[in-house]
Amino acid sequence: MTALTFPQNHGPVNAVRTTTFADGTEDWDSQTQQPKTFPQEQLNALKPFAVCNASQYQATAIAYTDAGAFPGVNIELPGTGYSDGIHAEFFAVMNARAHGATKLNALDINSSPCGHCREFLSKPENGDLPIRYIDNTKAVKDSTLKTLLPDAFVLEGQGDLFSSKDSTYQPIVKRIHEINNIQAAVTLNTDTNYKGYCVEVASWNPSLTPAQDMLIKFYSDRGLDGLNALDIIKLNLTEEQGNSGISFKWNTMAIEEGLKQLKN
Ligand SMILES: [Zn+2]
Repeated sequence: MTALTFPQNHGPVNAVRTTTFADGTEDWDSQTQQPKTFPQEQLNALKPFAVCNASQYQATAIAYTDAGAFPGVNIELPGTGYSDGIHAEFFAVMNARAHGATKLNALDINSSPCGHCREFLSKPENGDLPIRYIDNTKAVKDSTLKTLLPDAFVLEGQGDLFSSKDSTYQPIVKRIHEINNIQAAVTLNTDTNYKGYCVEVASWNPSLTPAQDMLIKFYSDRGLDGLNALDIIKLNLTEEQGNSGISFKWNTMAIEEGLKQLKN
């Protein structure tokens, strides 16, 4: 691993991998590509990028993957509910995914991951995923997903966020189409076309909606102040509804409205 891929507007790009000792060895786990020392400073440096007017809680996370380390912060959209927001862990993981990562090695989080995020990360082969976080006593805790989420609810064969065979989103979308009979995509038209898909995880819930996925891609590319440069915020939802009756219409409208309010 060489350079880390932190989008500039999301904090210090190369800050995570900093410690090199005099003998040339690095404070770096060669297997997970994660610093051996908990990157407290770097997680703190990401805090100002959180959008959290409602909770006033700045959550930050770093996902270590085969494509580098990627930051995430929480985003709450005004005028929407908490469930339409994006948690820092979702952001970090999908940020990595959007930049071509195919394997999640480890996660560092500035707080104990909520149940929502534990379930989001859950898939049968992910049990040993190393997760470090600041626990409720302010101590750094070294854990794994299966310790944090024993007896996870998993629907076999479902969404595989990180797998070498899923090098693009298409297989995920296709699988959802096959199982739940739905295909959905949300596009934000700017000079660059940002497209998000429904990303279904091993337990189906909490899945990311197409608008949430699009938003992560937009922010990870443009930075959290990227909205200010847009004249019109209009999300276009394309969905093919099957027998499941699932629709992302309301979620897309809510997120569009939230983005407009955020810009103003
Ligand atoms: Zn969470």
